[in-house]
Amino acid sequence: MASTTSTSTMTMSHGYIDAHNHLQATSLEPFLEQIIPACEDLGVARMMVNGITEQDWARISDLARRHAFVAPSYGLHPWYLKQKQAGWEKRLEQWLIADPKAHVGEVGLDLWMPDPDLSAQIEILQRSLQIAQRNHRAITIHCLQAWEQLLDVLRLERLPARGFLLHAYSGPLELVEPFAELGAYFSFSGYFLNPGKEQRLAPFSEIPADRLLAETDAPSMPLPDSHTEFGLPPQPDGEIVNHPGNIRAVYAALSALRKVDLSDLIEICAKNANRLFG
Ligand SMILES: [Zn+2]
Repeated sequence: MASTTSTSTMTMSHGYIDAHNHLQATSLEPFLEQIIPACEDLGVARMMVNGITEQDWARISDLARRHAFVAPSYGLHPWYLKQKQAGWEKRLEQWLIADPKAHVGEVGLDLWMPDPDLSAQIEILQRSLQIAQRNHRAITIHCLQAWEQLLDVLRLERLPARGFLLHAYSGPLELVEPFAELGAYFSFSGYFLNPGKEQRLAPFSEIPADRLLAETDAPSMPLPDSHTEFGLPPQPDGEIVNHPGNIRAVYAALSALRKVDLSDLIEICAKNANRLFG
């Protein structure tokens, strides 16, 4: 692969990869004219921009058309399943067919949210896995407090051969191996640097290097102030808006946690992202 890669692709593949964010979010929209050049200057090679409702998908596709570093993922997030419309599976598949670089996400299981409908979540996840598998795409999975249930679903389904991402992995260390055997990659979130989240950091010292990725989940999951490099005005309700440029700080923290040089970590994550997302 390396010998035939053009110079520009090599440069691209060795920048920061944000394995999971939501650049399409309305809270980021007014600031995109500063966010995009800031990420370019930083050396962001690629960001996996994930849909949360079907209403997002056209906007994500448009962002991918306009910005070379945007890679689109289309999915239905478990928090917003009530918004799903009949026929979504067919339309999801059409978005994938229209763009060979597109993937599936964000989908998943969440027992942390108020009033979760686990059976509906499982059904959407299963159908999304089937669509990803038959179209040879990666899938990005959200999971909160439903790790055993997720493992059960994954063990019963045919999974995408290229693997899947457990974004902002907050499961126990003991489940890293069984998930990895099924093809999991695990992305580290800067949110885990916040006080009280120390137990979330522990698995990331142990996760195999060839399954490691890093993410911002911007505009969600902000880093603590001490690590935040790029700020944005808060939402009217006071909620912090995470800037995708904070991916550099996420990498810096992960490099310190794993005691690996930043340049090596950049290379490791680039290789992993290329394997998973192509
Ligand atoms: Zn997300």
